[in-house]
Amino acid sequence: MLVDYQCPQCGAPATIEETDRLFSCGFCRVKSFLLSRVYRYLLPCCNAGNRALVFFPYWRFKGIFFSCTRQGIGYRILDISHQAVQCDLFPASVGLRSQAMKLRFVSPATQGYFLTPTLPFKDVLDAIQNRYEQDLAPPVFHRDFIGDTLSLLYSPFYVDHGIVDAVLDSPICGELPLNFDLFALPGGDTDWTLRFIAAQCPTCGWDLDGDRDTLVLHCKNCDSAWQAGKAKFTPLPLVHVPAETDDEVAWLPFWRIQAQSQGVRLASYADFARLANLPRVIQTKWETQPFMFWSPAFKVRPRDFLRLSRRIILEQPRGDWPPTIPEGFLYPVTLPVTEAAGALKINLAAFMKPPGLLYPRLSEIQIKPEVSTLVYFPFQLKGHDLVNTALQIRINRQTLVFARSL
Ligand SMILES: [Zn+2]
Ligand SMILES: [Zn+2]
Repeated sequence: MLVDYQCPQCGAPATIEETDRLFSCGFCRVKSFLLSRVYRYLLPCCNAGNRALVFFPYWRFKGIFFSCTRQGIGYRILDISHQAVQCDLFPASVGLRSQAMKLRFVSPATQGYFLTPTLPFKDVLDAIQNRYEQDLAPPVFHRDFIGDTLSLLYSPFYVDHGIVDAVLDSPICGELPLNFDLFALPGGDTDWTLRFIAAQCPTCGWDLDGDRDTLVLHCKNCDSAWQAGKAKFTPLPLVHVPAETDDEVAWLPFWRIQAQSQGVRLASYADFARLANLPRVIQTKWETQPFMFWSPAFKVRPRDFLRLSRRIILEQPRGDWPPTIPEGFLYPVTLPVTEAAGALKINLAAFMKPPGLLYPRLSEIQIKPEVSTLVYFPFQLKGHDLVNTALQIRINRQTLVFARSL
């Protein structure tokens, strides 16, 4: 998905990708970081003359739907749009248009009547999940949606006897029902605007570094890491696990999440070993070793997400690691900690043994993340793979390239 964009510093036009967060202007060289949580886009509009445009909103969901049934953990990649206002006169979704067309960000300068989304996205997401659940063998013990993209797409229409789709300039319904007044639906001008900040270190003023789709920026000058809060950058605790080799390594980011669990005893690694029925003798020292959740901090396909999380949770790596940014190639953080935290229960469910006995307890279990740290692990480049021998993890490099656009 491509978006037309203007540099907030100098106004120079540019095209960015939907996943881009850090924008380097080719003209003024200033780097800007996009802040908004839910982006609002406009589909392109035909020349509608003097006619008043109506912008109809659609929620767009992009992410992974996980489910937990007797068969184990299932998943499905979702990329769909759905009406954010209940109205049969308009198309139910934008179909494939969002992928095929160049979008623009909504701005207060956009002239037209913006209908107010009246269906909360949670309700729409529930309805979508319920639909998918019908394909699953009941009971569904737990489900989660790990979505890093939630946005609003506005599609333009105008009224000429009936309603006309102003993307293609073609009518979508003949005559309007009697007494129907489109402008009586809640709506009005928009004051939404894309929020951004200059990508400069709040501590020392140095330019922050990162890939265009990264959620975490680094300051090489004062060795700090930053993520976007609501209106400004907030510091992020970070460590790296030193490499045991002089060979070239790539650094992959992972989230280490300390969480409070209710409905299940999960204070120590010993608790975890019992829950997962690990084929190991429980050692006394495990009783005092705090249990940590782990997750990749980058987007991967659902199967890899489960595999990587599982491997590293099982390993429970620990150490007195330096709180500094490692030298060399850093793979960008593309999965926010909020999404990683949303998947903790799924990650836990993957370990429960025997599943049939424990899954029914999932609904009573609450896992509340408390402390999150970004941890960089070194991975050696071996052929097509990235390998960390200590963690026994091997990742195909092509998988990472592909998953970046997920
Ligand atoms: Zn510029
Ligand atoms: Zn700095």
